[in-house]
Amino acid sequence: MQLPADRNAVLRRLPKVDEVLASPALSGLLERAPRWAVLTAVRGEIERLRAEIVAERLTTTAERIEVDAAQVAVEVAALLQPSLQPVLNATGVVLHTNLGRAPLAAAAVARVVEVARGYANLEYRLDERRRGSRHEHVARLLATLTGAEDALVVNNCAAAVLLALSQLAAGRGVVVSRGELVEIGGSFRVPDVMRASGARLVEVGTTNRTHARDYEAAVADDTALLLKVHRSNFAVVGFTAEVSVGEMAEIAHRKGLYAMVDLGSGALADLRALGLGDSEPTVPQIVAAGADVVTFSGDKLLGGPQAGIIVGQRAAIAAMRAHPLLRAVRPDKMTLAALEATLELYRDGRAAEIPALAMLSTPEPTLEARARTLSGACQEASAALAFTPVRVRSAVGGGALPTVEPWSWAVAVSAREPAAAGAPSAEALDARLRRALTPVVARIAEDRLLLDVRTLGDDDLPAVVRAFAETLT
Ligand SMILES: *Cc1c(COP(=O)(O)O)cnc(C)c1O
Repeated sequence: MQLPADRNAVLRRLPKVDEVLASPALSGLLERAPRWAVLTAVRGEIERLRAEIVAERLTTTAERIEVDAAQVAVEVAALLQPSLQPVLNATGVVLHTNLGRAPLAAAAVARVVEVARGYANLEYRLDERRRGSRHEHVARLLATLTGAEDALVVNNCAAAVLLALSQLAAGRGVVVSRGELVEIGGSFRVPDVMRASGARLVEVGTTNRTHARDYEAAVADDTALLLKVHRSNFAVVGFTAEVSVGEMAEIAHRKGLYAMVDLGSGALADLRALGLGDSEPTVPQIVAAGADVVTFSGDKLLGGPQAGIIVGQRAAIAAMRAHPLLRAVRPDKMTLAALEATLELYRDGRAAEIPALAMLSTPEPTLEARARTLSGACQEASAALAFTPVRVRSAVGGGALPTVEPWSWAVAVSAREPAAAGAPSAEALDARLRRALTPVVARIAEDRLLLDVRTLGDDDLPAVVRAFAETLT
């Protein structure tokens, strides 16, 4: 490109990368940050200045054009920011799939650190000095807690369903109610998983009503099993009928078939004890009702790490343990460590230490007090905005309890004078909070930014206050 002589003259006053790196202004940064990051940031800054000059947005008569060290420091910080990082969940949605679902209990985190830091007996039998199996570690604990004969852990519930159907039903028919052909967020669709497993979907009943006689009539020579899929994220109301797990299992067993239930959310404890009225069925209840195979997630209502858990009949689980697909979906040592420590909390009567359950059962007065504390502290830090404690409804999330919306408390944030020129909108405030040093993810309702405190711990409040202080500078 041919540039006018004066622009070329300005371009010649741009500093060289090496000169900038050697300048005293950057010496401190070079001590703190890796050289590659400072180099990349300096190059970027020089390029940006060059583009400004070429576009004639920057004209100067200065002898030398300086690179702004503070700007370089900002760029370096951005380059060094990890991609996967902690955020503060102010949505009130306890099992938020996009925010990593269940936070782990302190005991589970500690176990992961212990096991991951060095070597572990992942596939080694210490007592017998020989090779063991990673699938032995939590099987007994899961069986004890659910009442099932045996158990197997894989990477997530989708993998659990895939493995179970591949083992028990490939090339054969699987009978499912039309009211249960569900899609779970993030592309888990029952018909698709069925196809991937090689099983043939046999739909029975209608969207709103399925009867025992529908299952009976659908059983053919090639039927492998009857499957029930839990409606994790929606409810069917009105003129409805569904066959219970007990009834379905009775039909299956009379015809010599397996009864399988994909439960998804997988509560181990009765959630009514947590004040969640319209409760989810628990895994022990489904096992007791006669299901031969039950699949559920480790990171939904169970409150542990991402995992898929299969519990059920000894022969069915043993067959899955021998399936070649298991190798492709096996869990790693960190998952097993976190899961075992979480399950021990249930075993020892310490389930209240599981964060997801603790958050779901936080009493309203505690939430109200937290909302008042947070709004007061934020108000002190940022006078330009108005912070008001409000009573709201929140969701459980994570494909669990779709009809339960417990009362919660939030801090509503708005501009002091919303109509004033330059007053930030809820969307603008939200965008700034998401870019804070510790990002805060909030929700917007009726043009107000809401920070629901159900999913914020008392320890998190100072970071939220700081995030507001940052957004104003
Ligand atoms: C959530 C869910 C799944 C998928 O579980 P992941 O652990 O996310 O793979 C499958 N089935 C049902 C019924 C669910 O609710």
